[in-house]
Amino acid sequence: MNVLDSQRLEGVLQELGLSPAESSESADVALLNTCSVREKAAQKVLSRLGELRKARAAGGKPGVVGLCGCVAEQDGASLLSRSPILSFVLGPGQIGQLPAALQSVGEGKRVNVTGFPADQEYESHLIARSAGARQLVTVVHGCNQHCTFCVVPYTRGRERSRALAAIVTEVRALAARGAKEVTLLGQTVNAYRCPASGAELPDLLEAVGAVEGLWRVQFLTSHPAFFTGSSVERIAAVPRLGSYLHIPFQSGSNAVLKRMHRSYTREEYLDLVSRLRAARPAVTLSTDVIVGFPGETEEDFEATLDLVSRVRFGQLYGFAYSPRPRTPAARYAGRVARATASERLERLFAVQTAIQLELNQALIGRRVEALIDGPARRGSQLWQGRGEDNRVVIVPAWDGIREGQLARVKIGGATAHALIGEAVGEADRAA
Ligand code: SF4
Repeated sequence: MNVLDSQRLEGVLQELGLSPAESSESADVALLNTCSVREKAAQKVLSRLGELRKARAAGGKPGVVGLCGCVAEQDGASLLSRSPILSFVLGPGQIGQLPAALQSVGEGKRVNVTGFPADQEYESHLIARSAGARQLVTVVHGCNQHCTFCVVPYTRGRERSRALAAIVTEVRALAARGAKEVTLLGQTVNAYRCPASGAELPDLLEAVGAVEGLWRVQFLTSHPAFFTGSSVERIAAVPRLGSYLHIPFQSGSNAVLKRMHRSYTREEYLDLVSRLRAARPAVTLSTDVIVGFPGETEEDFEATLDLVSRVRFGQLYGFAYSPRPRTPAARYAGRVARATASERLERLFAVQTAIQLELNQALIGRRVEALIDGPARRGSQLWQGRGEDNRVVIVPAWDGIREGQLARVKIGGATAHALIGEAVGEADRAA
């Protein structure tokens, strides 16, 4: 979501006639786009502002510094008083107001532009897209869930879906300029409901999946509680749908899930996994997990490990809980010691790494399609891409290899984090 917001900010600047500078230290205008989902990300912003202050003191640039994104929304005007280098703060619901903010700065004002006006336009034509074959498209803004650990409803506002027709138009334009994979984004993407027609996520996926020229359509992030009715079966039947599904479960303990206000139980989550795998046996699941949530006991944590072992996720993003401003959980008793949370996180990763290695090794000998992203490391003869299940696929470069190429790859080896293979014959490579 933040990557796409940065592209939106860049697109607005370009429309104003600005072009990218070599570095923020030599720029006339420097914008920091921020994340406040975890404490560490928010702290980084303050140290980056300190670096920019020093650069300006030494060389006079950057001339204008704007703070954008979720930290801007969260801390608003207080940031302006704490950081004199800041010319303005601009929340994620106000990207269209960037020209007005810059104009105010030109008039010598320092402005706080936050909040979520209902009439804010989403100007998809102004997004400064990369030339890459993978593109992101927002379909749902904000979130109504209020999980007790999460700052998103405060920083991204109430849930608002974009109109299906506008999304399909945007995806058609992306496919026409070479996009092969489109990922539809929302904090609770499976709560999508078109404001004009009432169409839901399966309808949207069917419409986007029918766009000529696309290889795969993906969507994230899904909330387990919104796979209602026949949505699992309908989604599973979408022809160009990738086989990667990200569905955070956060904790395997019902007591913790209740305190998190997650509105499902571990049994319901496991039932959802069974339904998904029955409808689409090749699906690769990934998830988010929080360890050390207030009150989490060793028994609760073992329930999380048990769920991970049962589901066997292809990927898992695990985090130690950190209290976020304004969230109910920040006031909960039973804070888990940092050392305990770190130790649990290590145990979680050990279990997950062993599972990933087994799952990846089971693919040795198979042929997979991969969308090539570029050299695995700068100047490397090894290139990397991703399969339709989002696994990293490493291949030796061949003459004419290029970003955005679709390759058929025979898998010859595997680590916990990547498949290693080689492209199988020129004729099998789709351009
Ligand atoms: S559903 Fe996701 S984005 Fe929304 S409050 Fe819960 S964790 Fe945050």
